[in-house]
Amino acid sequence: MRKRHLEDFAYDPNWESPEIVYGEDLISKVTRTKEKYAVATMEIPWNLVRDKLIKKPEKVVFVPNMHKETVEELEKSLPQIDLVIGIGGGSSHDMAKYIALRKQCRLVQIPTIFSSDASVTSAIGIRKKGKVKYIGHVFIDQILIDFSLFKKAPKNLIRLGAGDVLSSHIALHDWKVATRSGLEKMNSSAYEKAKQFLSYLKENRYEIRDVTEKGIKTILELYLEYVRIAHRLGTDRAQEGSEHFFAYAVEYLTKRQIVHGQLLAVGIAVMAYLQDNAFKDTLGLMEDMGIDYRLQKIGLTKDALAEILFSLKKFVKEGGYYYSVINEKKIDSAVVENLFEILS
Ligand SMILES: [Zn+2]
Repeated sequence: MRKRHLEDFAYDPNWESPEIVYGEDLISKVTRTKEKYAVATMEIPWNLVRDKLIKKPEKVVFVPNMHKETVEELEKSLPQIDLVIGIGGGSSHDMAKYIALRKQCRLVQIPTIFSSDASVTSAIGIRKKGKVKYIGHVFIDQILIDFSLFKKAPKNLIRLGAGDVLSSHIALHDWKVATRSGLEKMNSSAYEKAKQFLSYLKENRYEIRDVTEKGIKTILELYLEYVRIAHRLGTDRAQEGSEHFFAYAVEYLTKRQIVHGQLLAVGIAVMAYLQDNAFKDTLGLMEDMGIDYRLQKIGLTKDALAEILFSLKKFVKEGGYYYSVINEKKIDSAVVENLFEILS
């Protein structure tokens, strides 16, 4: 029997990987079904698939954003269904997860880009008063990787998916910082595993740059590995650290919707600097993967950068985020000057 999606966010030590299907034209296979289904998507990915559906959905939900109010209203507009399919990027997948949770129906995710790891993770990322909250714990039945769809996507929106893997480089360092301060305990086998995943990412950096099938598989498989670690540990400590908190703060302060992977690319660069953590190599690796980490990519001026960095400690304390380099590092205007110069 299918596992019940859970309301409360909880890691599950018995988490099982969704079935991953690689191939072409998978959308027609999944819609050759007797099930009543809905689709959560956006305009661009929907136009890529709409003519390939065998049976029509009961309803197509277009996801403008993941604000709590929007999400609740969209879900209420749906009839009872047996299946929900998330097609597109992060918001489509988060919305599909939310629908699966409320309707307790089967969930299939079809990423067409990798702006984040939302197509793989079980928690639903919603925005409450402009701040990111993770709710629920859903079971994804299948993830369909249709290479023909990825080939039509802007390459940049696939490469940036590596951000939710490279974030581990920063997160692991933050974990060490927290361990050193006596606040947390290190799980060395998880730590070592995550290190290996980072090496694997590095090995495949040109595959990611060129967005080959191998590059796409690398990103997806590493997402799965990190989800596996998180469920075993009961925390996503090995993958999420100060680079994510920086990203959340930028989103909160600028009130703009920016591709998650792009925010992370900048966050990773900023935090590798603050952590003094293989800074040059980390920038080099992003360059090799074809990822642009400059502040301008997320529209940050020097003043905006200063505003974010100076308020970051308060932001993470109020948000209840993990202990990290942000709690310990003194950030003054010299740091801002340096970062702005290097990352412009
Ligand atoms: Zn993320």
